[in-house]
Amino acid sequence: MSDTIFTKIINREIPADIVYEDDTALAFKDINPQAPVHLLIIPKKPIATINDIEEDDRERVGHLFWIAGKLATDMGFAEDGYRTVMNCGEHAGQSVLHIHLHLLAGRSFGWPPF
Ligand code: 5GP
Repeated sequence: MSDTIFTKIINREIPADIVYEDDTALAFKDINPQAPVHLLIIPKKPIATINDIEEDDRERVGHLFWIAGKLATDMGFAEDGYRTVMNCGEHAGQSVLHIHLHLLAGRSFGWPPF
């Protein structure tokens, strides 16, 4: 698999506003925010889509949700709520082939999505 823009962010080859990092994951501000707070939480392992998650990745991927909850709570959004989204494939609008959990907060969100 060729490097995506997110691998370049992990490797500090291009800049990003990084808000969290540990051994297996990174979180940074989305370049085109759709809410007052819009973060992308990614595994450092380049997994292209949800369809490519392997059994061995279960903890790595679940960890992204733990980070989302921690960051949202630390930023004061636990009570009001927030949105997490992981798009998969063309119909969902996935534009970067490296799985990423969107964390959107700071406003209300409609449902269902269109
Ligand atoms: P998707 O549409 O794949 O679910 O989400 C991809 C997200 O990555 C988009 O919200 C887009 O704004 C964001 N994005 C694309 N390129 C970059 C970049 O170079 N830096 C950052 N921080 N975000 C990016």
